[in-house]
Amino acid sequence: MFVERSPRGTKNTERKGQIEVICGSMFSGKTEELIRRLNRAKIAKLKVEIFKPKIDTRYHEEEVVSHNETSIRSTPVNFAEDILLLTGDCDVVGIDEVQFFDDRIVPVVNQLANQGKRVILAGLDMDFEGQPFDPMPKLMATAEYVTKVHAICMKCGDLAAFSLRLSDSRQKVVLGEKESYEARCRRCFLEDKRP
Ligand SMILES: [Zn+2]
Repeated sequence: MFVERSPRGTKNTERKGQIEVICGSMFSGKTEELIRRLNRAKIAKLKVEIFKPKIDTRYHEEEVVSHNETSIRSTPVNFAEDILLLTGDCDVVGIDEVQFFDDRIVPVVNQLANQGKRVILAGLDMDFEGQPFDPMPKLMATAEYVTKVHAICMKCGDLAAFSLRLSDSRQKVVLGEKESYEARCRRCFLEDKRP
Protein backbone atom coordinates (compact mmCIF):
# COMPACT_ATOMS: atom_id res chain seq x y z
CA MET A 1 0.00 0.00 0.00
CA PHE A 2 1.18 3.50 -0.82
CA VAL A 3 1.91 5.52 2.31
CA GLU A 4 2.08 9.29 2.01
CA ARG A 5 5.08 10.92 3.62
CA SER A 6 2.58 13.43 4.93
CA PRO A 7 -0.84 14.09 3.43
CA ARG A 8 -0.38 17.77 4.22
CA GLY A 9 2.94 17.78 2.43
CA THR A 10 4.71 21.05 2.96
CA LYS A 11 1.60 23.20 2.77
CA ASN A 12 1.98 26.83 3.79
CA THR A 13 5.74 26.56 3.73
CA GLU A 14 7.67 25.33 0.75
CA ARG A 15 5.12 23.73 -1.57
CA LYS A 16 6.76 20.90 -3.48
CA GLY A 17 4.55 19.33 -6.10
CA GLN A 18 4.60 15.71 -7.16
CA ILE A 19 2.94 13.28 -9.55
CA GLU A 20 1.60 9.91 -8.40
CA VAL A 21 0.33 7.33 -10.91
CA ILE A 22 -1.96 4.46 -9.92
CA CYS A 23 -2.05 2.03 -12.84
CA GLY A 24 -3.32 -1.46 -13.56
CA SER A 25 -5.85 -3.52 -15.48
CA MET A 26 -9.60 -3.30 -15.24
CA PHE A 27 -11.03 -4.50 -11.91
CA SER A 28 -7.69 -3.83 -10.18
CA GLY A 29 -9.03 -1.22 -7.76
CA LYS A 30 -7.32 1.83 -9.32
CA THR A 31 -10.23 4.15 -8.70
CA GLU A 32 -10.72 2.87 -5.14
CA GLU A 33 -7.05 3.65 -4.43
CA LEU A 34 -7.43 7.12 -5.99
CA ILE A 35 -10.50 7.78 -3.82
CA ARG A 36 -8.66 6.51 -0.72
CA ARG A 37 -5.78 8.96 -1.24
CA LEU A 38 -8.10 11.87 -2.06
CA ASN A 39 -10.28 11.23 1.00
CA ARG A 40 -7.18 11.20 3.23
CA ALA A 41 -6.09 14.53 1.73
CA LYS A 42 -9.57 15.91 2.47
CA ILE A 43 -9.33 14.74 6.09
CA ALA A 44 -6.03 16.65 6.25
CA LYS A 45 -8.04 19.74 5.22
CA LEU A 46 -6.33 20.06 1.86
CA LYS A 47 -8.29 21.54 -1.02
CA VAL A 48 -8.96 18.74 -3.49
CA GLU A 49 -10.25 18.95 -7.10
CA ILE A 50 -11.12 15.85 -9.13
CA PHE A 51 -11.45 15.50 -12.89
CA LYS A 52 -12.21 12.83 -15.45
CA PRO A 53 -12.42 12.85 -19.26
CA LYS A 54 -15.91 13.38 -20.64
CA ILE A 55 -15.66 10.17 -22.68
CA ASP A 56 -16.35 8.08 -19.58
CA THR A 57 -20.11 8.37 -19.07
CA ARG A 58 -20.75 4.86 -17.86
CA TYR A 59 -22.12 5.98 -14.54
CA HIS A 60 -23.19 9.28 -13.04
CA GLU A 61 -22.00 12.31 -15.08
CA GLU A 62 -20.56 14.27 -12.16
CA GLU A 63 -18.90 11.59 -10.10
CA VAL A 64 -15.83 9.41 -10.16
CA VAL A 65 -17.58 6.14 -9.40
CA SER A 66 -15.72 2.92 -8.91
CA HIS A 67 -17.16 -0.55 -9.23
CA ASN A 68 -17.73 -1.02 -5.53
CA GLU A 69 -19.87 2.14 -5.50
CA THR A 70 -17.43 4.20 -3.48
CA SER A 71 -17.71 7.60 -5.10
CA ILE A 72 -16.43 11.12 -4.98
CA ARG A 73 -17.61 14.20 -6.90
CA SER A 74 -15.66 15.02 -10.04
CA THR A 75 -15.74 17.45 -12.94
CA PRO A 76 -15.91 15.96 -16.47
CA VAL A 77 -13.64 17.82 -18.94
CA ASN A 78 -13.24 17.60 -22.72
CA PHE A 79 -9.56 18.53 -23.00
CA ALA A 80 -6.51 18.23 -20.77
CA GLU A 81 -5.98 22.01 -20.85
CA ASP A 82 -9.40 22.54 -19.24
CA ILE A 83 -7.93 21.13 -16.02
CA LEU A 84 -5.41 24.00 -15.83
CA LEU A 85 -8.26 26.52 -15.95
CA LEU A 86 -10.32 24.74 -13.29
CA THR A 87 -7.78 23.83 -10.59
CA GLY A 88 -7.38 27.33 -9.10
CA ASP A 89 -5.63 27.34 -5.74
CA CYS A 90 -6.30 23.71 -4.81
CA ASP A 91 -3.58 21.62 -3.14
CA VAL A 92 -4.36 18.21 -4.61
CA VAL A 93 -5.58 17.31 -8.12
CA GLY A 94 -7.05 13.86 -8.80
CA ILE A 95 -7.69 12.57 -12.33
CA ASP A 96 -9.50 9.28 -13.00
CA GLU A 97 -9.45 7.32 -16.31
CA VAL A 98 -6.45 9.43 -17.31
CA GLN A 99 -5.60 7.04 -20.21
CA PHE A 100 -8.50 8.56 -22.20
CA PHE A 101 -6.74 11.93 -22.52
CA ASP A 102 -4.31 12.53 -25.40
CA ASP A 103 -0.60 13.35 -25.01
CA ARG A 104 -1.38 16.95 -24.03
CA ILE A 105 -2.20 15.65 -20.54
CA VAL A 106 1.55 15.10 -19.94
CA PRO A 107 2.62 18.79 -19.93
CA VAL A 108 -0.61 19.67 -18.09
CA VAL A 109 0.03 17.38 -15.10
CA ASN A 110 3.70 18.41 -15.03
CA GLN A 111 2.70 22.08 -14.99
CA LEU A 112 0.35 21.41 -12.06
CA ALA A 113 3.08 19.58 -10.13
CA ASN A 114 5.58 22.34 -10.94
CA GLN A 115 3.13 24.81 -9.37
CA GLY A 116 3.46 22.84 -6.12
CA LYS A 117 0.35 20.70 -6.39
CA ARG A 118 0.11 17.01 -5.53
CA VAL A 119 -1.29 15.34 -8.67
CA ILE A 120 -2.75 11.82 -8.36
CA LEU A 121 -3.63 9.97 -11.58
CA ALA A 122 -5.46 6.66 -12.05
CA GLY A 123 -5.53 4.87 -15.39
CA LEU A 124 -5.37 1.68 -17.44
CA ASP A 125 -1.77 0.89 -18.32
CA MET A 126 -2.55 -1.64 -21.11
CA ASP A 127 -5.27 -1.89 -23.75
CA PHE A 128 -7.25 -5.06 -24.54
CA GLU A 129 -4.37 -6.34 -26.70
CA GLY A 130 -1.86 -6.04 -23.87
CA GLN A 131 -0.18 -2.99 -25.46
CA PRO A 132 0.78 0.15 -23.52
CA PHE A 133 -2.15 2.56 -23.34
CA ASP A 134 -0.92 6.03 -24.35
CA PRO A 135 -0.35 8.44 -22.67
CA MET A 136 0.23 6.25 -19.57
CA PRO A 137 3.90 5.40 -20.32
CA LYS A 138 4.81 9.11 -20.44
CA LEU A 139 2.87 9.86 -17.28
CA MET A 140 4.54 6.97 -15.46
CA ALA A 141 7.97 8.14 -16.64
CA THR A 142 7.50 11.67 -15.34
CA ALA A 143 5.86 10.68 -12.03
CA GLU A 144 7.66 10.58 -8.67
CA TYR A 145 5.62 7.54 -7.57
CA VAL A 146 4.06 4.73 -9.60
CA THR A 147 1.80 2.14 -7.96
CA LYS A 148 0.69 -0.87 -10.00
CA VAL A 149 -2.40 -2.56 -8.61
CA HIS A 150 -3.60 -6.00 -9.72
CA ALA A 151 -6.92 -7.68 -10.30
CA ILE A 152 -7.54 -11.40 -9.75
CA CYS A 153 -7.54 -13.69 -12.82
CA MET A 154 -11.13 -14.84 -13.39
CA LYS A 155 -9.83 -18.14 -14.80
CA CYS A 156 -7.12 -19.33 -12.39
CA GLY A 157 -7.25 -16.99 -9.38
CA ASP A 158 -3.67 -15.71 -9.75
CA LEU A 159 -2.81 -12.01 -9.79
CA ALA A 160 -4.00 -10.42 -13.04
CA ALA A 161 -2.45 -7.52 -14.96
CA PHE A 162 -4.36 -7.91 -18.26
CA SER A 163 -7.87 -6.93 -19.35
CA LEU A 164 -9.38 -9.56 -21.65
CA ARG A 165 -12.10 -8.28 -23.97
CA LEU A 166 -14.92 -10.81 -24.32
CA SER A 167 -16.55 -9.22 -27.39
CA ASP A 168 -15.22 -9.21 -30.98
CA SER A 169 -14.87 -5.43 -31.19
CA ARG A 170 -11.49 -4.12 -32.42
CA GLN A 171 -12.08 -0.57 -31.19
CA LYS A 172 -9.51 0.64 -28.67
CA VAL A 173 -12.17 2.13 -26.40
CA VAL A 174 -15.24 0.08 -25.56
CA LEU A 175 -17.05 1.37 -22.52
CA GLY A 176 -19.14 -0.83 -20.32
CA GLU A 177 -17.58 -2.94 -17.65
CA LYS A 178 -18.30 -6.40 -16.43
CA GLU A 179 -20.16 -7.54 -19.59
CA SER A 180 -17.25 -6.72 -21.91
CA TYR A 181 -14.07 -7.58 -19.99
CA GLU A 182 -12.52 -10.01 -17.55
CA ALA A 183 -9.22 -9.85 -15.69
CA ARG A 184 -6.53 -12.37 -16.72
CA CYS A 185 -3.01 -13.32 -15.63
CA ARG A 186 -0.40 -13.40 -18.41
CA ARG A 187 -0.76 -17.11 -19.22
CA CYS A 188 -4.58 -17.11 -19.24
CA PHE A 189 -4.59 -13.86 -21.27
CA LEU A 190 -2.41 -15.46 -23.97
CA GLU A 191 -4.63 -18.58 -24.02
CA ASP A 192 -7.91 -16.65 -24.31
CA LYS A 193 -6.95 -13.58 -26.37
CA ARG A 194 -8.56 -13.34 -29.79
CA PRO A 195 -6.01 -13.58 -32.65
ZN1 LIG B 1 -4.88 -16.97 -14.88
